[in-house]
Amino acid sequence: MGKKIIVAGLGHGGIAAAAQLSKAGYDVTVYEKKKEGTLGYDWTDIFAPDALGIAGMEMPPEDKFEYKEDMTFFSPSQSKGLRQHVPQDKLEIKMERRDIYEHFINHALECGVKIVYECEVKGPVVLGNRVVGIKTSEGDVYGDLVIDACGLNSPVRRNLPESFMIDKDVERNEKITIYRAFYNVATEEPVEAKFKVMLFEGGIKGVNWVASEDDHTDLLIGRFEEFDMDHVNEFAEHLRKTNPRLGTEVQRGGQFVEIPVRQPMAVMVADGYAAIGDSAFMTVPLIGSGIANSLKASKVLADTVIKDKHNAFTADTLWNYQTGYYKILGNGLAPLAAAKLLLLSLTPEEIDYFFEKEILTEDLMTIGADFTGLGSVKVDPADMINKAKQVCSDMELLKKIIACGVRMGRVSAACAMMPKKWNAKRVASWSKVYNYCFK
Ligand SMILES: Cc1cc2nc3c(=O)[nH]c(=O)nc-3n(C[C@H](O)[C@H](O)[C@H](O)COP(=O)(O)OP(=O)(O)OC[C@H]3O[C@@H](n4cnc5c(N)ncnc54)[C@H](O)[C@@H]3O)c2cc1C
Repeated sequence: MGKKIIVAGLGHGGIAAAAQLSKAGYDVTVYEKKKEGTLGYDWTDIFAPDALGIAGMEMPPEDKFEYKEDMTFFSPSQSKGLRQHVPQDKLEIKMERRDIYEHFINHALECGVKIVYECEVKGPVVLGNRVVGIKTSEGDVYGDLVIDACGLNSPVRRNLPESFMIDKDVERNEKITIYRAFYNVATEEPVEAKFKVMLFEGGIKGVNWVASEDDHTDLLIGRFEEFDMDHVNEFAEHLRKTNPRLGTEVQRGGQFVEIPVRQPMAVMVADGYAAIGDSAFMTVPLIGSGIANSLKASKVLADTVIKDKHNAFTADTLWNYQTGYYKILGNGLAPLAAAKLLLLSLTPEEIDYFFEKEILTEDLMTIGADFTGLGSVKVDPADMINKAKQVCSDMELLKKIIACGVRMGRVSAACAMMPKKWNAKRVASWSKVYNYCFK
């Protein structure tokens, strides 16, 4: 009988890791609070399909997805739009969230994973310095390793002892609150850009999109503070002035949800514990995409577990998962969390300036697509500073850009200094330095 692995929550990375581990002979059970067949949201998601192959999954059937349109980013004044030009072979796919889940779950079941639905995880069971199981609504469950795939507010992560050095809470500027809904199409008039992403529209700090589909208009409103339906209705009305296709009738969705947009977690593992997906803040900090990253992380985690010949599953052996993850994704994502802090410090006028002076370009926005899917996350802070110095006559803005470039450089240096091997003391000092870069 293989060692017993518990996956807390049916997150995307968790179920993908579960499948790979079950296939390799481990006894894997996923505990999910929702009812079977009710997972996900009533809308579509976008992700890079190459991540499926990395996680050992096939492409979904052709009638279940389509390729995503290039996005056009607009400045707050909407005076300028920057359209991505993602090459054909790097296009992401758009799929219904429930179909993504169905695809992942069917694959996991074929690999022998067991899933217990309607079972709420309440927290970890900790014995001494080790996670030995989870507390659930159905009683305690014990295992040799707990994979935490419960998402942003994971009760496992949040209830770990302080001595584990694992970030529990997320600050307000480290998560974005999203309202998303599909509205009816109010007019068949052609649109200038099919997938419009608007930064700080209406002078409000946040990201918004209006995507024109054949049978609906997809509205997303993202804010770094709480907001309610009154704000949604008022803002949607404001958007209708420049997006007449956006109707007034909500056809699908219409929920508020939260996405982490911060640096990857400083310590992702402990004895008997590994976090994945939103539990470990694996999303791209500037845009919140996390599906492809979670899938790629699942491969690193599964490989690490399989290579742990003595099934120790200690922080020591699981540390290879952390270093492997940072190598393929975290080292590129962490500086983007610094860029997000710059974005939050800017005024709408300063963002307009970025567009007008071509500090932001179509190429940069196209690299943005790469962040979500392809793992080759590269932004050169020195390049950014040099360009800003050439065009920027506003000293206050230039100072902000230079500070951001310096911060990005520091973050990259901190990532490079991550201990290669687990050593509790060294990891503790390193994680303090790393997290301090974002203060
Ligand atoms: C509105 C929105 C749009 C997004 N769009 C995209 C996109 O287009 N592309 C993209 O790549 N990413 C997108 N993301 C991000 C993406 O959803 C996540 O980054 C990705 O799914 C990884 O998160 P996760 O699966 O780890 O966590 P989650 O999606 O949060 O899943 C956690 C799972 O654990 C379960 N769970 C939670 N708590 C408990 C508990 N106590 N007990 C038992 N089970 C529990 C939940 O029910 C859920 O099934 C979007 C997110 C949101 C909110």
